[in-house]
Amino acid sequence: MKLFNKLFALFCLAGITSLSVQAQQQVDKCGFNHAVEYLNQKNPYYKQQINDAYQQWVIEANAKQNKNDKSIYVVPVVFHVVWNSNNPQENLDDSVLIEQINVLNEDFRRLNADTVNMRSGFAPVVGDAQIEFQLACKDPNGNATDGIVRVQTSTTFGGGFLPDMASIAKIQNTSQGGSDAWNTSEYLNIWVGDINGGSATPSLLGVATPPAGLSNWPANSIPPELTDGAIIHYSAFGRNNPVAMTATVINGRTVTHEVGHYLGVRHTAENTFGGLFGSICGDDDGLTDTPNCDQSQQGCNATRNSCTDAIPGVGDLPDMVENYMDYSDQDCQNSFTTGQINIMRSVLQNERNGLLTSPALSNCVVGVEENSFADKVTVYPNPSTGIINISSTENEDLKITFYNGLGQAIQPVVLGKNQYQINKQGIYFVNIQSKTASVTQKIIVK
Ligand SMILES: [Zn+2]
Repeated sequence: MKLFNKLFALFCLAGITSLSVQAQQQVDKCGFNHAVEYLNQKNPYYKQQINDAYQQWVIEANAKQNKNDKSIYVVPVVFHVVWNSNNPQENLDDSVLIEQINVLNEDFRRLNADTVNMRSGFAPVVGDAQIEFQLACKDPNGNATDGIVRVQTSTTFGGGFLPDMASIAKIQNTSQGGSDAWNTSEYLNIWVGDINGGSATPSLLGVATPPAGLSNWPANSIPPELTDGAIIHYSAFGRNNPVAMTATVINGRTVTHEVGHYLGVRHTAENTFGGLFGSICGDDDGLTDTPNCDQSQQGCNATRNSCTDAIPGVGDLPDMVENYMDYSDQDCQNSFTTGQINIMRSVLQNERNGLLTSPALSNCVVGVEENSFADKVTVYPNPSTGIINISSTENEDLKITFYNGLGQAIQPVVLGKNQYQINKQGIYFVNIQSKTASVTQKIIVK
């Protein structure tokens, strides 16, 4: 990134000064481009191949605009919590992991409450990606699982001024003190651990790999050294994380950002990472609906407009600090654009389609449970704006219980018999019981 290059140049010129200390604190939050460089060192075809693929996706995404199908894609997730014996707080509780899934579902379905903060000028270019995430209920051997693997380790991962990718990659290997991936074509593997070498001031929040290994790639063009998926620093993870770092806001968007990379999307200031699309204020990330900008933002500066845009039907927009693929503060981010969504959905339809047919989610009892009683009850409308009605073809009393995404029972406002109101956007579950049967349905409040 340009800012980083500038600071690094100053670091080299000025040596150890107070400015270089500042530079160290402002190094990349995201290791995506470091991962790409690292993998390219291992295989000189790698960078060219993923850039060629990206440029093709961009052409298609720009041409497609809003012509997406309406199907919802569900991505199976496995978390590998790799925690160091010297720091047991890295062993994050299940509730933190589950809440991270909720953040992904809100952000990728545009159900996040903070969309109200988005400046209205962006309304024509943002959307619902219609992608959801669920913890795997079957492991690669077909056995039941909660989708969470926990590994206690004595190994230290990462650290250094530039991210030590070779060290970080160990977290993905059991034999090196980490946790082996589950079949990467059928699971989104997310490792959670200390990837800053135990630093008291961690700077790298997360890393992810782009889709790779396309059918037309040369044999052996995917280096095995860094496994497919995302790696997240434990204190940059989740939004109810009791040990979240305090130097910056952490509300779950580290993972939203890295999963964006995993699904093919680049930084909104991609041009500053090596000129993939020409000059600063040129084509930037290549997408016509993300405003061009001269650098990734740190903070939440809503007045900055570094480049003049010609977004179809919209014209010029300021730098988009609301975009999940910027470096802006996490509580400033709230949106993906249609172009970004087009890329992610295309990647799921093609390069990552193994996720959509994965046995990882077959016959999961979590979420929507299918049985004959389900045919007799109706929950409507769904999605709703908060008022939910429940009816049954059997004229009988129903016991109705609502749960939030954490599985905690909640008490919605009772408007009448079998009519309820939930006042907060999100994904919920409602369990409906008769005297003889029970069904749980997922409901969405927009
Ligand atoms: Zn990134």
